[in-house]
Amino acid sequence: NIKAHQAQRGVKLLAGIKNIIAVASGKGGVGKSTTAVNLALALARDGARVGILDADIYGPSQPRMLGISGKPTSKDGKSIEPMENYGVKAMSIGFLIEEETAMVWRGPMVTQALEQLLNDTRWGELDYLVIDLPPGTGDTQLTLAQKIPVTGAVIVTTPQDIALLDARKGLKMFEKVGIPILGIVENMSFYICPKCGNEDDIFSHGGGERMAEQYDVDFLAAIPLDRRIRNEADGGKPTVVAEPDSRLAELYMELARHV
Ligand code: ADP
Repeated sequence: NIKAHQAQRGVKLLAGIKNIIAVASGKGGVGKSTTAVNLALALARDGARVGILDADIYGPSQPRMLGISGKPTSKDGKSIEPMENYGVKAMSIGFLIEEETAMVWRGPMVTQALEQLLNDTRWGELDYLVIDLPPGTGDTQLTLAQKIPVTGAVIVTTPQDIALLDARKGLKMFEKVGIPILGIVENMSFYICPKCGNEDDIFSHGGGERMAEQYDVDFLAAIPLDRRIRNEADGGKPTVVAEPDSRLAELYMELARHV
C-alpha cells in the first residue's frame, strides 16, 4: 500500500530502508526534536533497526540529544558512515557544518544538503528512519516532503491556539503533497506539580485531540511538560534510555507502537 503510494508520488524508495517517518511541527520549540529522538529510541527498544536524520538545519539538536560528538568518517571518500549511540544510527547537519554557516543558507541549498545527507549516509538495513524536520511549512519543508520518500508524518504541537494554528498548516502541507499523516502528538500537554501532585494545563489542553478529530487523523500521544524530559534530552540521554521503566518512557513506547 505504502509502496504503491510512494510510486504514485514518483519518489524513489531508498534501498534498505523500510519506513521513513517524518517528525514535523508548525513552530519551533514545541518539542519536535525531543519527541523524534524518544520515538527513535522507543522503536529501537522494541527491537527495530533505527536511524535518525536530523534535518533541522537551522537548529540541529540531535547530536546533543543523543550525546554524540565528533565528526563522521568516510571509507570511500563518497559515502558517510553514520554516527551511533544507544543502538540508533544518526546523521545530522550539526556533525558536518558550523551552525552559523547553515543559518545563512537559502532554501535550495538546504534541500540539496539534506538530500545528500539522506542519500550519501551508509544507513545499512533499517526498519525505520526517523527524520527530525525543520519547523514550519516553508519552501524547504515542502520540497523535502516532495523529494524524500516519506512513509508518513507525525505532527508535534503544544496545546495552545497559536501552535495549533501552525500545526494545521503543517498538516495541510503534507496532505497537499500526498504524505499520509500518522497522527498528532500533543507535547507539554499538562503539568503535574512534583510537590503537590496538582495537574495544571499550562498551555491549555485537548487542542491536539480536537484537531485530530477535525482532520480525521489519529491522536497519538499526550506528553506532559516534565522537567525530566528536558534534563534528559538536553543532557544527551533521552528519557527512553535514561529512565526506561518510568511512566514517561512508557508514553514514548506507546507512541512508537502507534506509528
Ligand atoms: P523543537 O524541536 O520543536 O524546536 P525541542 O525538542 O528542541 O523543540 O524542545 C525545546 C526545549 O523544550 C528543549 O529544551 C527540550 O528539552 C524541552 N522539552 C521538549 N519537550 C518537553 C517536555 N515534554 N517537557 C519538558 N521539556 C520539554
